[in-house]
Amino acid sequence: MDTWSGAEEPEEATPSSNCPICNGASFVHPLLASGKPDFSRVVACRCVQEELDKERQARLQQYSGLAKLHRTMTFDNFDLKRANLLPEQRENLEEVYRLARDFAKSPDGWVVLQGVNGCGKTHLAAAIANESLQAGKPALFVVVPDFLDHLRSTFSPESGVSYDQLFESVKNTPLLILDDFGEQSTTPWAQEKLYQVINYRYNARLATVITTCCSLDEIENRISSRLVDPKISLVFPIIAPDYRSDRRSSQSAKRYRRGKKDSQS
Ligand SMILES: [Zn+2]
Repeated sequence: MDTWSGAEEPEEATPSSNCPICNGASFVHPLLASGKPDFSRVVACRCVQEELDKERQARLQQYSGLAKLHRTMTFDNFDLKRANLLPEQRENLEEVYRLARDFAKSPDGWVVLQGVNGCGKTHLAAAIANESLQAGKPALFVVVPDFLDHLRSTFSPESGVSYDQLFESVKNTPLLILDDFGEQSTTPWAQEKLYQVINYRYNARLATVITTCCSLDEIENRISSRLVDPKISLVFPIIAPDYRSDRRSSQSAKRYRRGKKDSQS
């Protein structure tokens, strides 16, 4: 909107403010069709809206579950130019990068990112969450082993707890990242609670990103059958090796491709 700040009314400015549009007044006069300021009206300055957006982003980030490290993981700093990748690995990495970027723009359905530790799947998943928060939309980043620990202590048969805020948030958030999904050893009731989350989100078609270094037949059948449902889910195997192997020779990159066990830490 075209506006005019009334800069010659310095009594309205807060000295601490450095907004060049309103000089700290927080509001501006909209411009009339003639191009002159309409002194009979005031509207909030753009800086107020930006401040509110920033506050909202900070609040969303605070509740996102993103650890400090994960907050720094964006699409911009994802390394597509890794050394010693075979051509097909590079192509595969570029493809999953594009897929994750597109998904982040309008999260819809499920994406399963599968690959060895260090292949980049967690970085991409965190980048999706960060992009959503940046746009002022909520996202929840959950490290599955930690979440199972939480469930185990919260919902033990002795605890008698039937309601848990984190559990409800994970179930209902419009965008959920389940990082490091695997064959965790946990209690049957924690496993059951995790299944409830998956099943609820599956039925409600809520956008979900899952990263795992397991093959799908290593995952409990009730869950894996949902992960592979093409109506809702896209499974993307990342064939890039552990980035920590990049410093070694390309010969060893080939070896890593053959035996993913070697590259897992
Ligand atoms: Zn302003």
